[in-house]
Amino acid sequence: MIYLDNNATTILDEQAGKAMQECFYKIYGNPNSIHPMGLEAYRVMEESREKIAELLKADPREIYFTSSATESINWALRSATSFRGKRKRVITSAIEHKAVLNTLKDLQNSEGIEVIIVEPNKQGIIFAEKLLEHVNEDTYLVSLMAVNNVTGAIQPYEEVGQYLEAKNIFYHIDAVQTIGKTSFNLESFCNFASFSAHKFHGPKGLGILYVKRGTALRPLLTGGGQERGMRSSTQNVPGVVGTAVAMENAIKELNSTTEKLRLFRDSIVKAVRELGGVVNTPLDHSVPNTVNISIPGVRGETLVNALATSGICIGTSSACSSRNDGGQYVLKAMKVREEISESAVRVSMSRFTTKTEVEDFIKSLREAVMLLKF
Ligand code: PLP
Repeated sequence: MIYLDNNATTILDEQAGKAMQECFYKIYGNPNSIHPMGLEAYRVMEESREKIAELLKADPREIYFTSSATESINWALRSATSFRGKRKRVITSAIEHKAVLNTLKDLQNSEGIEVIIVEPNKQGIIFAEKLLEHVNEDTYLVSLMAVNNVTGAIQPYEEVGQYLEAKNIFYHIDAVQTIGKTSFNLESFCNFASFSAHKFHGPKGLGILYVKRGTALRPLLTGGGQERGMRSSTQNVPGVVGTAVAMENAIKELNSTTEKLRLFRDSIVKAVRELGGVVNTPLDHSVPNTVNISIPGVRGETLVNALATSGICIGTSSACSSRNDGGQYVLKAMKVREEISESAVRVSMSRFTTKTEVEDFIKSLREAVMLLKF
């Protein structure tokens, strides 16, 4: 198999897996127990929290562990809404992940908030000024993704943060697609940032919510009072330990990965253009592991299935929704022609992707297109 769907999920980093295995079999105490096995589990969990905080340039007290980025996003948006007072307005973008869009839709129905959805330009990029022109006295929350999962386009999250820093408005960044793909840390302003370990070769089922110190926070889960009373339920110690190892390695390898993936992506783009295809990713303003392409006349699902027969896994657009609307809403928001959005597929590489794999993919793509189009 050739796996080129790394924006959906990634293979586990081997070192992370080994560290997790040790936790599963040796350091398996409950980190909230006060006996030696519990204290040992607590120690490795807190060491991992410190490592993650250091890598993100945050304080360990600002790092909370959750079960996924979806949970982190729900927590941030719902907590901010509970502290909104009389204010009603939330500003977000049309290309956010459904974890953001559907949570805001739910809050719109249950809390009567007003959700302003800002459209991207044709390249799938949100203009900071266009988003910020909607900020008024009624605004209590802005939520913007750092990197789009469907196209890889980098969004102006820093610019928006600079503007919001002095304002009394919550600011959430969906940073899920950043780690190991672009330099991202929490030196620029936000109140909340969400991460998901399985997107950077960490384990599935482990999310992070960064909460800037001083930000009002309401628990999403109540119970035994773990995570400093803010997120009850026994922590996933192996998951936390694996996440810290995976994050460290992903960030350490970022520079060499970037160079390599740029070259790989260039060769894919060249082949796609030779086949009369279209590139939907803004190449000079995106993370190098991702390229969203369309071969007009060949439906996305058809191409994904054809490549699957050659043992190649690529995505239609976004895995979590590919069984229903396939993340097509992102391309529609970019106002690409229907023919292009219907034929869009996403190729997403990782630092483990090899030159041979990319060459084999290109060869199979050529063969599949010849067969399907002519
Ligand atoms: N946000 C973005 C940008 C994503 O790409 C994803 C996953 O595809 C999520 C949020 C949700 O992450 P998880 O599936 O870990 O909850």
